[in-house]
Amino acid sequence: MHKIVILRMGHRPQRDKRLTTHVALVARAFGADGVIIAGVRDIGVERSVRKVVELWGGPFFIRGGEDWEKVVQYWRSDGGLITHLTMYGLPVEEVLPSLRGKDLLIVVGAEKVPGKVFAVADFNVAVTNQPHSEVAALAVFLDRLFYGAELKKEFLKWKLKIIPGKKSKKVQKMP
Ligand code: SAM
Repeated sequence: MHKIVILRMGHRPQRDKRLTTHVALVARAFGADGVIIAGVRDIGVERSVRKVVELWGGPFFIRGGEDWEKVVQYWRSDGGLITHLTMYGLPVEEVLPSLRGKDLLIVVGAEKVPGKVFAVADFNVAVTNQPHSEVAALAVFLDRLFYGAELKKEFLKWKLKIIPGKKSKKVQKMP
């Protein structure tokens, strides 16, 4: 299986806890393998994401405090591609055929992303050329990458699993 990892840039612990947590939860739910938070460690965010993995299953990892340039260098030396989600990039539907079947490091920003990221990325990819959100961009990107197959993903080692219902709220518990 090919590795899909999200590199979260620009996390500001005072402001971005919720959004960064949502980046990680969307990454997990939509089929990625893990998230790396660049530059800072935010134990609170890491803890809440790990709690979700413990309850709802994995595998999925979250790490923090890593130098983004080193992460990019390592990823490239290991043969993977760097994909940067940005409204300035090329349309996702044009770029995806070049990305499928490869190990992908998917960079998403919080506010302004350093110009260097645009230069080092193999592909700068836009999910529409309109400004919106890293959470939405990531969800659409992963859904298109996997042709929607991630919606049926089975997680492993779960303690809680929802039994879908029209009106019920049924949760199966692993003893
Ligand atoms: N104007 C900002 C910029 O410099 O890109 C927008 C920042 S936006 C709040 C945060 C992140 O959302 C961006 O770094 C990018 O990863 C993602 N994003 C926002 N709109 C996007 C789009 N249309 N396509 C792809 N990614 C997008």
